[in-house]
Amino acid sequence: MSPDTADALRLDIIGAGPAFTDRSGATGAAYLVRHGSTAILLDLGQGSFPRLAGLLDPGTLDAVLISHLHPDHFIDLVALRHFLRWGPSAPRRVRVVAPAGLGERIDALHAEPAFSAAALDFEELQPGQLRIGSIATEVAAVTHAARSFGFRLSTPGVPGLVYTGDCGRAADLDALIRPGDVLLSEVSFGPGPVPADAAHLDGPAVGSLAARTGVGRVLLTHLLMGFDEDQTVASVRAAYDGPLSLVHPGDAFTLD
Ligand SMILES: [Zn+2]
Ligand SMILES: [Zn+2]
Repeated sequence: MSPDTADALRLDIIGAGPAFTDRSGATGAAYLVRHGSTAILLDLGQGSFPRLAGLLDPGTLDAVLISHLHPDHFIDLVALRHFLRWGPSAPRRVRVVAPAGLGERIDALHAEPAFSAAALDFEELQPGQLRIGSIATEVAAVTHAARSFGFRLSTPGVPGLVYTGDCGRAADLDALIRPGDVLLSEVSFGPGPVPADAAHLDGPAVGSLAARTGVGRVLLTHLLMGFDEDQTVASVRAAYDGPLSLVHPGDAFTLD
């Protein structure tokens, strides 16, 4: 193993689906990033908890970062909470860094005021820097729902990972991306165009973002039902000539 590989972030695609889909086996947004003994989960959308639990003990996560308060990015926190409260080695707790108000939303769903606080330690997500274990995390506001964020996770000397969350304005991400980074980008509307009343990205927007920021690799995700995968990749390829693929649950990458 080269020193670079030892330092590199490891990315597991737990779920790559959008809010709804007809793709069998697709589950909501969830991406596991690991470095050494540090494990960070980016989002935890519908149906993704089982695949997460098949890869590691969810009680050992250093943190879950939630990009915004749409359920396709957080609803399986309910399963995580139950696991921590009643599963093996219970009771345990996990740190959840999320836009303000998430705990109250989950509590309201259960009509139980302390439901989430029984196992989840919420912290308010804000633009700026976070350090979680050995991984440095930079947080930037993006245009989507109220209080939506993108992330850059990195360790020294190797490419970082930039995750767009859901994003309606690609330029919001420019300042987060360093040349050579891996860009994990939503591409909800495939080859495009994005409807005027939808705050999401399409392939041409991702392609031009990737080209102008000099990313080393593009991983596409969150493709809506009805859009063709090959046409979507081609619409990014028109502007970006580096390594490029659409990710699926079970895919794993070493970001070196
Ligand atoms: Zn979404
Ligand atoms: Zn959203």
